[in-house]
Amino acid sequence: MAGTGGSGADRGRPGGDPHEWRRRRELRLERLRETRRRGRADPVPTQEPRRSYDGPVIDVREVQKTYQMGDIAVRALRGLSLQVDRGEFVAIMGASGSGKTTLMNILGCLDVPTSGTYRLNGLDVQGMDEDTQADVRNRYIGFVFQSFNLIPRTKASANVELPLTYAGLPRLERQRRARAAMASVGLTDRAHHLPSELSGGQQQRVAVARALVTNPAMILADEPTGNLDTSSTAEILGIFDRLSRQGRTIVLITHEEDVARHARRVIRLRDGRIIADEPQQFEVRA
Ligand code: ADP
Ligand code: MG
Repeated sequence: MAGTGGSGADRGRPGGDPHEWRRRRELRLERLRETRRRGRADPVPTQEPRRSYDGPVIDVREVQKTYQMGDIAVRALRGLSLQVDRGEFVAIMGASGSGKTTLMNILGCLDVPTSGTYRLNGLDVQGMDEDTQADVRNRYIGFVFQSFNLIPRTKASANVELPLTYAGLPRLERQRRARAAMASVGLTDRAHHLPSELSGGQQQRVAVARALVTNPAMILADEPTGNLDTSSTAEILGIFDRLSRQGRTIVLITHEEDVARHARRVIRLRDGRIIADEPQQFEVRA
């Protein structure tokens, strides 16, 4: 509990950084609006496929993405097709500029292709309005980013609960699931800590717990160890290994061979195309 005792009463009051306070208030309001928009009872997108759906989690066909920069068209993805089945652990690699982030944004329903199709867990993402897309993103994808993206001055457990808040789950259910997710990354004793009171590795574990808490169809991680030291990197990759053994679908974007070695399949991009897509022997680790 190291020194967090008094922080509860201070939080959310104008006092410290006024920008921070305003931002937090905005966020609370946004959460509230989001919950109202959806109605508490229906966190599940209407297009949800039957439980028996066992097609690929990711089904990308002939996707192109062109960014228009004034007169210049930047072809970031040039006809890329890719299927990922449930339970796969895939690393996507490529030099800077090869299209990794562009692909990640499309897989994460944060952007849409210029042409071609993307189906996530059998759902046609392009055809949805933005609210439904946000629902799908929240429900089917657990994001892990290089920079953790935790909300500061908000304790770890509340960060983990956030996706469930968006989904409109009742408080007790949120707390129960957040506790389980925190336990699964070995952070039960850090639930009441603020991000600033945690090491980088611990913050990323909180982010992994937040990614897991909705029981998503896949974990989408963009350079998740890019900001971590060697031992924290090993810790996070160890968690990914375990999740993979438990049958989680994981897509890991990285430019480090050592990190990619944890995946069972490695896809390499160059100039917006797949130049290699190969299975990897899985190394048994302690
Ligand atoms: P990576 O993540 O592998 O470094 P990106 O997907 O970020 O690659 O970029 C692929 C190509 O698309 C690069 O040439 C990059 O400059 C270009 N690009 C990426 N995002 C944009 C954007 N928003 N507007 C214009 N060009 C972009
Ligand atoms: Mg990138």
